[in-house]
Amino acid sequence: MKVFKFGGASINSIERYKNTGTIIQSAQNEKILIVISAMGKTTNALESVVNSFYAGRNEEALQLFQRIKSSHLDLLKYLTVLHWQKAEDQLKDFFTEIEWLLNDKPVRSYDYYYDQIVCCGELLSSSILKNYLEELKVNATWLDVRDIIRTDNNFRDAGIDWEYTKKRIHESVSPLFDQFDVVVTQGFIGATDENESTTLGREGSDYTAAIFANILNGESVTIWKDVDAVMSSDPKKDKEASIIQALSYTEVIEMAYYGAQVIHPKTIKPLQNKNIPLFVKSFLNPNLPGTTISKDFSRHLPPIIVIKENQVLIKFKSKDFSFIEDKPIFQLHEIFNRVKAKPNLTQNTAITLLCCFDDHEEKINQLAIAASDIFDVEVERNLTLLTIRHYKQETIKKNCVDKEILLEQKTPDTIQIIMK
Ligand code: ASP
Ligand code: MG
Repeated sequence: MKVFKFGGASINSIERYKNTGTIIQSAQNEKILIVISAMGKTTNALESVVNSFYAGRNEEALQLFQRIKSSHLDLLKYLTVLHWQKAEDQLKDFFTEIEWLLNDKPVRSYDYYYDQIVCCGELLSSSILKNYLEELKVNATWLDVRDIIRTDNNFRDAGIDWEYTKKRIHESVSPLFDQFDVVVTQGFIGATDENESTTLGREGSDYTAAIFANILNGESVTIWKDVDAVMSSDPKKDKEASIIQALSYTEVIEMAYYGAQVIHPKTIKPLQNKNIPLFVKSFLNPNLPGTTISKDFSRHLPPIIVIKENQVLIKFKSKDFSFIEDKPIFQLHEIFNRVKAKPNLTQNTAITLLCCFDDHEEKINQLAIAASDIFDVEVERNLTLLTIRHYKQETIKKNCVDKEILLEQKTPDTIQIIMK
């Protein structure tokens, strides 16, 4: 059994859906579990629906949702003939559930409503795919992953209940492969023991693919993307970006940690635990080799560049020239936890602590205000955090031309530079 994960870009038009269908058809004689994301930018569009709804603008929320409905219904019309009516009925059931909610007044947390509404993106896209595959005579079935993946109620970043999920997969998913070649399900979403929908964090579909592969002892996971392979830097910004053919799990975890948007960071552990290889392949050129991620140690890696924009550097300086010791650092970390801000880099001196964060304005302001009880706080915005793994002097130079360097940190493997 293999797991395929298709991202939103692989299904954001009729042609792309057809292309995805061709890839699935050409994996004949294989049992495949397909994990799919929401179509194109649907998740962002659903976020706008949530925002309007939560601000009490129900009409606006319904209008925004109407656009999402139309785009899915249009696509379905072009992709299905024989199965169209049945497929449309299923979409309409999902619509009704959301619209019912959108007519209400919010009485619970924002995050709760976020998950109840946003989860429909994956339900819609997977339902269309399943019906389209049937149209192609692929022996496929569809599964509501919320009946299978059980999570806690930490909405928007829900944690997996592995025991229950394992049990459900063994009793309800494995047997499906006796009857079907392809099982289509949703990434990114799950449900609590009270049947409330949850989400696993943005871009979480990769993680779902890894959960299934781990529990089903999959042969491999393939993530189909709109790039040829994992690249050494962002090809849109760097002409010298090169393809990386093989990476170790460890290297990918490091890259994700530093902010490379290759694969959702939680994806690797479930695969590494069972030694399941992960292939990153291009859905536009499926014949290209792509990247293989496995336990094998990667040799001769080129410098790998990760750039994070919109960074903020905060200087926490002791008010009375006392050293920065355990207690104030502990207090500071309590504040970080409270506002849910995780530093991307930290550095100590005798009387100051420097921390670099993604600049979520509201969080950062909250953090700075809270910390100013204990420290003198200075905030510097609009910075870039450059990370280079396996750095060479020339790569550093090239990426820092005309920049002012505010902080530099180095290990034998990795250099990080904050600059403006
Ligand atoms: N559709 C979700 C998102 O855009 C999950 C995913 O794409 O993996 O974040
Ligand atoms: Mg995605």
